[in-house]
Amino acid sequence: MTEIAPDHVFQAWHFDGKSAVRRPVDIQAIGNDFYLTETERRHGPFAFADMTYVGEQNGAHVYGHDEIDGWRLGLRGEIPGELSGLLPPPRRYGGWIDRLGLGKASITFAVISAAVVAVVLFTPQWLAPLVPSSWEREMGDALVGDFGGRFCSTEDGSAALAKMTHALDDNPEDLQVEVANIDMVNAVALPGGKVIIFQGLIDNARSPDEIAGVLAHEIGHVRERHVMQALLRQFGLSIVLGGADGTGGSLLNGALSSSYSRDAEREADDFSIRAMRNANISPAATAGFFRRLSRLDGSDQPDQNAARITGYMSTHPLSGERQRAFENSLEEGKQYAPSLTAAEWQSLKTMCENDPDVESGFGPFD
Ligand SMILES: [Zn+2]
Repeated sequence: MTEIAPDHVFQAWHFDGKSAVRRPVDIQAIGNDFYLTETERRHGPFAFADMTYVGEQNGAHVYGHDEIDGWRLGLRGEIPGELSGLLPPPRRYGGWIDRLGLGKASITFAVISAAVVAVVLFTPQWLAPLVPSSWEREMGDALVGDFGGRFCSTEDGSAALAKMTHALDDNPEDLQVEVANIDMVNAVALPGGKVIIFQGLIDNARSPDEIAGVLAHEIGHVRERHVMQALLRQFGLSIVLGGADGTGGSLLNGALSSSYSRDAEREADDFSIRAMRNANISPAATAGFFRRLSRLDGSDQPDQNAARITGYMSTHPLSGERQRAFENSLEEGKQYAPSLTAAEWQSLKTMCENDPDVESGFGPFD
């Protein structure tokens, strides 16, 4: 091990991972640890063994701390010989860090770490799980808001919807499931664990189990991080690096209109089938619902109805294969229970019409 005299200090800069303040510090190495000293404060000790090389920025080598998100230490120029044996060796990431630019709020750092990994594994499927859920939630809140006041809520209706959600997912507190007062046969998953069921879908359902199957499918998109994948596919890394400023409308549009790959749809269906099995809800109703919707292909429907129906069809092509997956998961002789009681189902169906404050229809969102 290299011996360094305790009075030998090296100039550097430091982000502590909590604030966006960049501090000039001196590195004071003592054995396998070091302190970062400012004029009036001392941080540490930190272990050299916890250091990871992050990249190069404006001529400085930047290190992260394995245990502290957003923690950064920058050393300008050549690493002094005394430290180079203790710090991990620099690696090249093709100038990514330079171009991304460090120095924003600490939340950005976690995302940048993800982006660095993405240089190697840059596909939306690989990257989406690396985007922190907390960050995605903030973005979702900013984008979706209250959907222009169109989320319906009554005491009984909201309780029925919560009961269904709790039955289908182990961590329902991460989810925000809403019914939107819009006459469209569709349901979408949006960033940050938001799932929106449109009133038109509920109007066209004959039983709560049909809604349960569709809801569980959308929760599957959330859990498999398909929402983030779709946004990354459409908007690229700018979405995680640039944030949503000024482009909220187009991001929301993108999220609402994005369709998933066939594989993603299959994963969401698999999730739905598993969730319903765990919740003891029969998959037969969902299979029937799909069959009914696919017959309503619009050809023999009045125009308006056709457009409403094709909303779901355009984002969720209803293949015979999807229907059969639900049918085949039906277990012979199993005693299924309805996902909601008749009274609960009635409360859910009438939640929008019984909510005196809800906005309706399309029109401008304010
Ligand atoms: Zn889907």
